[in-house]
Amino acid sequence: MKPRLFSPRLILLDLVILLLANLLIFWLADRFQLTSAPADHSHTMGLALVLCVNLVLSLALFAYRRARESHAMLQELNTIAGQDAVTGLANRRQANTILDRETERSYRTRRPFSVLLLDIDHFKDVNDNYGHLAGDQVLAAFGQLLQKRARQLDTVVRWGGDEFLVICPETDQTGALALADDIRQRLAQTELPAVKHLSTSIGVATQTLDDMPETLLHRADMYLYAAKNAGRNRVVGEAGSASRERRLAPEE
Ligand code: GH3
Ligand code: MG
Repeated sequence: MKPRLFSPRLILLDLVILLLANLLIFWLADRFQLTSAPADHSHTMGLALVLCVNLVLSLALFAYRRARESHAMLQELNTIAGQDAVTGLANRRQANTILDRETERSYRTRRPFSVLLLDIDHFKDVNDNYGHLAGDQVLAAFGQLLQKRARQLDTVVRWGGDEFLVICPETDQTGALALADDIRQRLAQTELPAVKHLSTSIGVATQTLDDMPETLLHRADMYLYAAKNAGRNRVVGEAGSASRERRLAPEE
């Protein structure tokens, strides 16, 4: 179990340990007659030295422990700030940082990168028929399915509501379309909590040389919209790609 950061009990324990350590040092000093009579100049100096060393060591140790706790707390806060509470996936905030980084990397290396924007079909019905809690469970299960299928290099994001984003570095349009189709098919074969089966529509966009994250996402959003308009449960990619619109088994 993780220790609670800045817990009063932990701080009290630290203080007790420091007190005992100080008493031990004074006892040792006393044994070696550093603090006892005769109270001449050298003994006073000895006592002052023991006091100073004790004080500095105690403060340093206490400050070090609190600094470590602050560091751990900052790390924990950073993780929480980049996470979606319902699915445990990366949230929009974290995704924006990753998109900026991948755009930069793609410009530099001239390697492609793609994004998949997914929206669950008729998700409102899930909430209406089974309740909001079941809806949350479905979102979490869908997130897990994406996480399981994506590569380690990819980032799966809860983009908002029932929309998810998969950021795929080093992936061209063909690879991204294949991944999107596979996700769509896997979802059709997966039993989800309460609702049993759902489908998803997916827009796939691949970075071009003049793309910024916003323009790339805008295209993915347009393709997603096109997939919805074309009847849902399908993948739409960049115009001119080998399969601009693909709808595979089992629904064909
Ligand atoms: P479409 O096929 O056009 O996508 O239809 P839809 O019913 O899925 O419509 P839309 O995507 O616009 O609706 C998303 C719904 O997701 C609306 C909202 O009630 C629900 N929703 C958004 N966030 C959450 C959440 O955190 N938990 C749950 N349970 N539902 C959410
Ligand atoms: Mg939807």
